[in-house]
Amino acid sequence: MTKKICPACGTEDIIERKTPHLINEAFGGGREIDIVEDRCKVCGTVGDFFSQNDALISEAIDQCKSLAVKNILQDFLDHAATSMSSMERALELPQRTLTKWKNGQTKPSAAGFALLKMLRIFPWLLDVAENKFDYEKGQRIHINEAVRKLVSHISFDDTLSSNLKISTSYNFAFNLTYDDSFQKEYNEHVSQEAIEGLSEAPTILIEQY
Ligand SMILES: [Zn+2]
Repeated sequence: MTKKICPACGTEDIIERKTPHLINEAFGGGREIDIVEDRCKVCGTVGDFFSQNDALISEAIDQCKSLAVKNILQDFLDHAATSMSSMERALELPQRTLTKWKNGQTKPSAAGFALLKMLRIFPWLLDVAENKFDYEKGQRIHINEAVRKLVSHISFDDTLSSNLKISTSYNFAFNLTYDDSFQKEYNEHVSQEAIEGLSEAPTILIEQY
């Protein structure tokens, strides 16, 4: 092994100090690594003299990313009624691409990784892809999901009438009905009056009737 010498003055009188550093990746958790800092006791030069940190950092990032890929795909398999092959078809990826990514046989490109993260946050983008990226259908899926999310945050109680109408300005209206046992039923429903009364702005009206 070559002698460790100060790159500035050539002395071997070097102290190595390690500082913990956290690497984070969305959906891939975090990893703590020890960042090395060398200090020359003779001339006072400080730095990563032997370029040890770059490899450590990129290895930790790689591990977090591959865990994120696994987690995202597993989450899809657990929560969405879909299979890897139908996802591959919708996204026009070569067969077994996702399986290979999940097993760590191959790594997604930066763009592929970004796509996975987008899908994890907005799973309905897969529906958009399954509908061949048709603009109108895509808008419809988006708004439907947004309203679904909104509705799930509204608290309904006994004093409210049995029917609640939620309309958006994008040619949709949604009916939410509660039966006697207070079971939620969700139906998509187009209402002409609701459309005509609305402005272009993506406002959502909630009204009782
Ligand atoms: Zn030195």
